[in-house]
Amino acid sequence: MSKTAIIIGAGPAGLTAALELLRHTDIKPIVLEKTSDIGGISKTVNYKGNRIDIGGHRFFSKSDVIMNYWQDLFELAKAPENVAKNEKWDLDEDEVFIERDRLSRIYYLRKFFDYPVSLNSNTIKNLGLIRIAKIGFSYMWSKVFPIRNEKSLEDFFINRFGKVLYRTFFKDYTEKVWGKSCTELSAEWGAQRIKGLSVTKVILHYIKSLFKSKNVDIKQKDKETSLIDRFLYPKLGPGQLWEFVAEQIRNNGGEIYMRSEFSGLEINSDNTFSVEYIHEGRTESVSGDIVFSTTSVKNLVNATKDVPENVKQIANGLLHRNFITVGLLLKKLSIENKTKIQTINNLVPDNWIYMQESDVKMGRIQIFNNWSPFMVKDESNVWVGLEYFCDPDDEMWRTPDEEFIEMAKVELEKVGIISQNDILDATIIKMEDTYPVYFGAYEQFDIVREYLDKFENLYLIGRSGMHRYNNSDHSMLTAITAVHNIIDGRKDKSNIWEVNTEKDYHEEKSKD
Ligand SMILES: Cc1cc2nc3c(=O)[nH]c(=O)nc-3n(C[C@H](O)[C@H](O)[C@H](O)COP(=O)(O)OP(=O)(O)OC[C@H]3O[C@@H](n4cnc5c(N)ncnc54)[C@H](O)[C@@H]3O)c2cc1C
Repeated sequence: MSKTAIIIGAGPAGLTAALELLRHTDIKPIVLEKTSDIGGISKTVNYKGNRIDIGGHRFFSKSDVIMNYWQDLFELAKAPENVAKNEKWDLDEDEVFIERDRLSRIYYLRKFFDYPVSLNSNTIKNLGLIRIAKIGFSYMWSKVFPIRNEKSLEDFFINRFGKVLYRTFFKDYTEKVWGKSCTELSAEWGAQRIKGLSVTKVILHYIKSLFKSKNVDIKQKDKETSLIDRFLYPKLGPGQLWEFVAEQIRNNGGEIYMRSEFSGLEINSDNTFSVEYIHEGRTESVSGDIVFSTTSVKNLVNATKDVPENVKQIANGLLHRNFITVGLLLKKLSIENKTKIQTINNLVPDNWIYMQESDVKMGRIQIFNNWSPFMVKDESNVWVGLEYFCDPDDEMWRTPDEEFIEMAKVELEKVGIISQNDILDATIIKMEDTYPVYFGAYEQFDIVREYLDKFENLYLIGRSGMHRYNNSDHSMLTAITAVHNIIDGRKDKSNIWEVNTEKDYHEEKSKD
């Protein structure tokens, strides 16, 4: 009799595990998903025909396995010559992937700065010569007198960029994302996350970009992830890809139980599992030979029987930042496209904008028209997502939706990007457990990992599932690696944990 795998969560990791099992084994996957949506934090929300991507998901990976995986699912559409960045065109039904040129800038002093910051006439004009001189001086100072014992993230930034550049372009955004001062975040975090980014690399990238040809390979192997110029994107957002994967799972004999919240795990003496879940208020149970978990480590541990107290304690101290997006439908923005990139209605061509202004709580603005014009019902409107990061016990998280939307509208007007009169509609999306944090109990995470890894047929995969800052390519790779361990009879799970720690997988970026 063939085996059954219970997969907790229908996000990229869980769905990849299910499809990989169906493609390469006779193990039947049953996916439990607590919400009514497919795709986890990579889902797309359809609000009255206007689509929101939670965070803006670039489909880009340094791994050929993942780039090929995506391109085997969907065909790449070629945009006609001279189509504007935010303009629709006729696509064949099969053509789902569109190729996007990345533009993300920093908004500071009510002005735009290139990201990565480059020393061009615009930067000099916006900052003024005095600030530029201070940046240059403090950069030189940091090279001559580096902070010897790098303890905090602030030390890490100052050693690489100098104090003034760090305060100008890194401090506020980083603190908005993590809800902590850079002096409280560890330098180790910087070493893991932004290892490859330096002033030298930024300058080299800028020089290369002056000579770049348009037909460079989409794989962009030689680039830091934060510096990639182009990426793939499903025309209706990332959820389109995950909904397609879910359809393939169902068509090939897998099952997905929607609105089914995993609530209990018992490991039987024969190494099989009894899994409980809550569906429409009733507790149901299903048994399986293998379990893949993408729910947070904290949830998994709390739902598992007979976990030692110390493991429970650490797992309960593993924290996440939550994420709020306010979608605003607008007649227009109050700022104009002053770049050479062609757009209709003179829309700024940014995919997203980092909000470095410290007088607003907003962290980032997504302009969905520029991710894909097909995300927007009427392309003459502007459809933006205003992004906020917070802790689950923050006031921001508890603020009633209508009040929060009003605050977001006021903030966007305050920084000079819109006028209230141009707002046509608004909505809000709140997502839990989006950013696993690397402080607090995380220091002792290995104790939890070792305990859970002992259960031979239990696999922790994905982002929250491994409490790891994994992008969707890493999340998928952990799922693929786990399935292939099963096929190969490999008991040691270390190769799953090695994903996104090896040089090639490293995210090496400061902002996402
Ligand atoms: C702001 C932001 C921007 C990002 N940008 C990018 C990007 O540009 N490129 C990129 O590749 N990646 C990006 N990512 C990362 C990407 O979203 C994640 O790597 C990916 O979604 C993780 O997949 P996952 O399946 O591990 O987890 P999730 O997507 O979190 O899915 C987990 C699923 O499990 C379900 N679940 C949880 N608990 C239970 C339970 N008890 N019972 C049943 N179901 C449960 C959830 O409802 C969810 O559907 C970004 C993430 C964020 C937050």
